[in-house]
Amino acid sequence: MPVNQFVAKSHVLHRALAYEPQKIVSGSGISFTLESGKVVYDASAGPSVSVLGHHQPEVTKAIVDQLDKIAYVYSGSRYTCDAAESLAAELLKDAPGGLVKAIFVNSGSEATDAALKLATQYFCEVGQPKRINFIARKQSYHGNTLGALSVSGHESRRAYYRPWIANNVSFVDPCYSYRAKGESETDAQYVERLKLQLEDEFLRLGPDTVAAFVAETVSGTTLGCVPPVPGYFKAVREICDKYGALLILDEIMCGMGKTGTMHAWEQEGIRGPDIQMIGKALGGGFVPLSGVLLNQRVFDGLAEGTMVLAHGHTFQAHPTACAAALAVQKIIKRENILDHVASMGWLLEAELNKEIGPLRHVGNIRGRGLFWAVEFMRDVPTKTPFPVEHNFSNRIVEVAAELGLNILGNLGKTGKIDVELVILAPPYIVTEEE
Ligand code: PLP
Repeated sequence: MPVNQFVAKSHVLHRALAYEPQKIVSGSGISFTLESGKVVYDASAGPSVSVLGHHQPEVTKAIVDQLDKIAYVYSGSRYTCDAAESLAAELLKDAPGGLVKAIFVNSGSEATDAALKLATQYFCEVGQPKRINFIARKQSYHGNTLGALSVSGHESRRAYYRPWIANNVSFVDPCYSYRAKGESETDAQYVERLKLQLEDEFLRLGPDTVAAFVAETVSGTTLGCVPPVPGYFKAVREICDKYGALLILDEIMCGMGKTGTMHAWEQEGIRGPDIQMIGKALGGGFVPLSGVLLNQRVFDGLAEGTMVLAHGHTFQAHPTACAAALAVQKIIKRENILDHVASMGWLLEAELNKEIGPLRHVGNIRGRGLFWAVEFMRDVPTKTPFPVEHNFSNRIVEVAAELGLNILGNLGKTGKIDVELVILAPPYIVTEEE
């Protein structure tokens, strides 16, 4: 396909070279306005980011107030600021799941890299330097930097960069009951099968060489809003504990309230992860911000050693981003927005099942809270997917956009099996009518 004229002339290098992106000129509530004047309902909050919508005066004020105080603080080692300290205190109030410390970075991918590095440094500091292996899941996505891609089982995003992909990562099956659970298998049997597979991988690598298991609590773009089967994360936690490895949960896309609880793992009956990545909804997209949370075990281990993190960024814990995220989190708490997420989620689930469920190519509707996916099949009864060349989900996304609805499609081939789906993750402020 030839390069689009606009893309050829634009000084911004756009991701799709054949398509002209449309300019968004303004936004309010859950919608944004294009240059043409067309209003688009943002049913996926961008890529599941703009949870308070596209304009929020209280957040704007918090950003301006912060800029009036101090615009930039280098939080390398000597300095910090109120915004970062208050945001961390807000997130870690009552130590959810035992999480006690936060690192703030700019993107989810950076958060994943930081988590991988923290886990690696942790084991060096506690005298177990042989623990260098990571186990992740097929059809997963943890970010686009080379570290994050190394633990991502997203084939099309990895393809060009093979020489850079780390070789200390192996992959097990994700928990994906719609396509992978046997017809006569119960949830408990399916969990047991996945647990055995994970344990076998620990044993194959040598359990004392495994640093951590990495997974999205509720899968994001690659598999599309797949909630784990009950008991899955209990089994995973058990295996990690049995062999002394860390559990790293990626809640960049599914966390910070999207599933109806602040952290998606709260619904899994586990004590929490050792390290957790957060992003997207953390700051609601007003200013880039992501983060890593860690528990006492990891902090104590790091503090046993050189007393210096061998990791950091120029813009980490940026005051403006932290001030914006603090305002976002305060609004979410003050307005009891997570109750609203839960009730809007039930409504969305019911409406999807009623309106979309009976359609010919709809195979599966799944999700939690305001994080839902519709998976398409060429033939639903036999679960035969569309060939990737059909580009089915992206065509649905295009039709929706023409109708004034922004939804997310899955980007490219994500693994050995083709998964065609769209994601709806409306802003938390969505109303019943919208
Ligand atoms: N992890 C998950 C689960 C994601 O969905 C994403 C982004 O979509 C990332 C990590 C990477 O985040 P970012 O795009 O902010 O680098």
